[in-house]
Amino acid sequence: MSDAPLAPGSVIGILGGGQLGRMLATAGAALGFDVHIYDPEPDCPASRVAARSYCAPWDDAGAVANFANRCAAITYEFENVPVETVAIAAAAAPLRPGAKSLELTQDRFIEKHFINQQGVKTVPFAQVDDVDSLEAAIENIGLPAVLKTRRFGYDGKGQAWIRDAEDARAAWEMIGGQPAILEGAAAFRRELSVVAARSVRGEVLAFPLSENVHGDGILKTTTAPAHGVDSATQDRALAIARALGNGLEHVGVFAVELFDLGEGELIVNEIAPRVHNTGHWTMDGCGCDQFEQHMRAVAGWPLGDPAAHSACVMSNLIGHDAEAWADLAADPQARLHLYGKRETRDGRKMGHVNRLSPL
Ligand code: AMP
Repeated sequence: MSDAPLAPGSVIGILGGGQLGRMLATAGAALGFDVHIYDPEPDCPASRVAARSYCAPWDDAGAVANFANRCAAITYEFENVPVETVAIAAAAAPLRPGAKSLELTQDRFIEKHFINQQGVKTVPFAQVDDVDSLEAAIENIGLPAVLKTRRFGYDGKGQAWIRDAEDARAAWEMIGGQPAILEGAAAFRRELSVVAARSVRGEVLAFPLSENVHGDGILKTTTAPAHGVDSATQDRALAIARALGNGLEHVGVFAVELFDLGEGELIVNEIAPRVHNTGHWTMDGCGCDQFEQHMRAVAGWPLGDPAAHSACVMSNLIGHDAEAWADLAADPQARLHLYGKRETRDGRKMGHVNRLSPL
């Protein structure tokens, strides 16, 4: 399939229609594309801003093919789209990023192994399949440590901290006795992330590093550019992004979550093979934001300039936080983004607010 740039008016398909799909669809429309959404959820957030949407289960091969056959390129907005679904899509149109990015990041064990293979550091980790292998992993790695399911973990779900060897069985039960990994605890000073993009030609550009604060396993705020990052550290983050992006042969935006161990030492927590919550600040802080950047990459266009024109603090609106929309709308300092979700639930990401200041 050709790497030639897609002309405006071409159809770009997105597998997944949550808030990331919605913001991607909006950015794609701004570049003149017709964006089609595929999501099993009726009335999903992206369906209401897209040119067309398809609602069918992931395993409905006919529906996936019907969607994919109308697309000039296809992308995905979340990493748990089944690999069988992306295989059907990829047979019909260029899939960007490719299936490799999904396969290597859907499983935490495979992902961490891949990261180390690229010469990039992570915390120590071990495969856990039962209580015996968990006890052996605790012997090797030491405590405290965190037990995580290999698959389908997000926003801190499917994780249990172990501080005492006697808690091993309880932790195993808490994560539902599923295939898992045990990770050593990172003694980090702070959490950073680098959101980067790789073009069809293999060029990798990164947005400035951001600093992220989590609560209850969910991202609360992102401050960007992160304070006190010298150019050597920003360059190291770019080198990490380049090594991982090239290793995945990724096309599009991806995010690398980092632990800053101090003295500029960065290790990788995880890779998200897609636009990322810690990149939402770019919507107001950069001339070309992560959503436009992704659609440019998917379309085979040149990447945009990822430089920040302003400093930004992004605050997530989680659950009932979004009920303050009228006050936020009245605040001239607040750039409000709402995702159009019909139902408010505790812990659900409903929107975010960006507040700018001079660089
Ligand atoms: P994750 O779902 O793997 O991104 O983990 C969610 C959050 O838990 C991270 O953003 C960290 O705050 C914390 N965390 C996860 N793994 C570790 C680790 N190995 N050491 C220290 N903190 C961790």
